[in-house]
Amino acid sequence: MLIDVRPILSGAVTILPFDYTIDPPAPFSGIDFPSPVRIRGQIRNQAGYMTLSAQADVPYKTHCARCTKPIAGVFHHSFTRTLATRLEKQQDDDYLMIVKDRIEIDEPLVEDLLLSLDFAYLCKEDCKGICPSCGKDLNEGPCRCAEKKEVDPRLAILAKLLDK
Ligand SMILES: [Zn+2]
Ligand SMILES: [Zn+2]
Repeated sequence: MLIDVRPILSGAVTILPFDYTIDPPAPFSGIDFPSPVRIRGQIRNQAGYMTLSAQADVPYKTHCARCTKPIAGVFHHSFTRTLATRLEKQQDDDYLMIVKDRIEIDEPLVEDLLLSLDFAYLCKEDCKGICPSCGKDLNEGPCRCAEKKEVDPRLAILAKLLDK
């Protein structure tokens, strides 16, 4: 959304709050965003130094990277920027430009959010995953494959010899 910052530029107010929702971003690296994103925060003017702070509540859905179980939750993404009316020499990503008395928050905020995402999410920190040979969910208990692997092949040969 474009926010009209004239009230704060003119000095009529020193704090300009905002609260709105935007359409969810497109799926990104295996993460789906199923519902609208709420963005709220404020623009603050401290003796001509203008800052924006926002929080985005971003519902998401993905799958556990180890066991593929579905995961759903909400990212709470914080976003802060300094507002600039003209291009500064040392301009970088921490600045948000005021263009024609307006600022556009959504695109840089979503970009910032996507950059902050992890590559893999787990259903729980100690998820044991699924067995690559039999496909059993190891969170529900060990599978037979683990038992077999525990027997040292050299001992197995020895056991066979002793059998004879
Ligand atoms: Zn898992
Ligand atoms: Zn197995």
